[in-house]
Amino acid sequence: MTGTHRESTGLIFDLQRFSLHDGHGIRTLVFMKGCPLACAWCSNPESQKTRPEIMYYREKCLDCGACLEACPHRELLEAAFPRTPEACAGCGRCVQVCYAEARHLVGRSVSVGELLAVILSDRVFYEQSGGGVTVGGGEPTLQAAFVSELLARCRREGLHTALETCGFASWRNLALVLKNVDQLLFDLKHMDPERHRELTGVDNARILENARRAAGRVGEMVVRFPLIPGCNTEASNLHSLGRFVSGQLPGVRRVDLLPYHSTGESKSVRLFRDYPLAGRPPLEREEAEQARDILVSYGLEVNIG
Ligand code: SF4
Ligand code: SF4
Repeated sequence: MTGTHRESTGLIFDLQRFSLHDGHGIRTLVFMKGCPLACAWCSNPESQKTRPEIMYYREKCLDCGACLEACPHRELLEAAFPRTPEACAGCGRCVQVCYAEARHLVGRSVSVGELLAVILSDRVFYEQSGGGVTVGGGEPTLQAAFVSELLARCRREGLHTALETCGFASWRNLALVLKNVDQLLFDLKHMDPERHRELTGVDNARILENARRAAGRVGEMVVRFPLIPGCNTEASNLHSLGRFVSGQLPGVRRVDLLPYHSTGESKSVRLFRDYPLAGRPPLEREEAEQARDILVSYGLEVNIG
């Protein structure tokens, strides 16, 4: 045994610097790959699988066949093309040889130190704006040890830390990560368990229980709720949400409403996945305002957008 500390590695699908979303001030956003939910409206379907995967841009493809030559599963890729076969291990060889840039590899393994170096390079912007780092996804608690270590090291550097979660996690994993979180952005999707299952693939009992347990454990907790027309904007659901947040989440007073947008649709095409809400129009402004008014009637501070 050498006693050398081996750094955790995590799988991310994106890293955004200079963001003005998902927390206070200017932030670096780390997007972890892998999610236990499969929301019908998911705007980042490339976040869902827990392994790297290929996005294919049909309009750029020259049908040159270079990707087939490079792939260790050549016969399978040839049979599935332009889809990617299930056996794909995400090695990225097909991406390297595709000069048309028709294939993008989504998902890369990074160490805590590597991420921290990028995050710290923007320290001056966090200090001037009251910003920091936000870890979201995907679902960060699926990689709890990695995320916990990353957030702990950010904290040690004096950075403000935020976590975005769908709440579908073991309490053990969520509690581990929360130790190093200043602001918790907790997503709720629907208050009815059966409807929640239809829309996301899982029921909401564990999510609501985790929300209750998390409230009061972090400096600041904000509930976030996507407004998806035809899915969760009915008044009865919004009243249930208002009762839950105001009555069962001590210290939580703010709800951010996130109006539906359809960016997940074109991404789903590139992943050869179904998009259940294909063609659905965006949310009407009045519908968002009605939702806000219902939640305000429970004494909550509500932001749209
Ligand atoms: S290498 Fe790129 S351009 Fe050529 S067939 Fe494959 S995806 Fe299309
Ligand atoms: S990422 Fe690797 S295994 Fe997957 S299709 Fe490309 S070359 Fe084949």
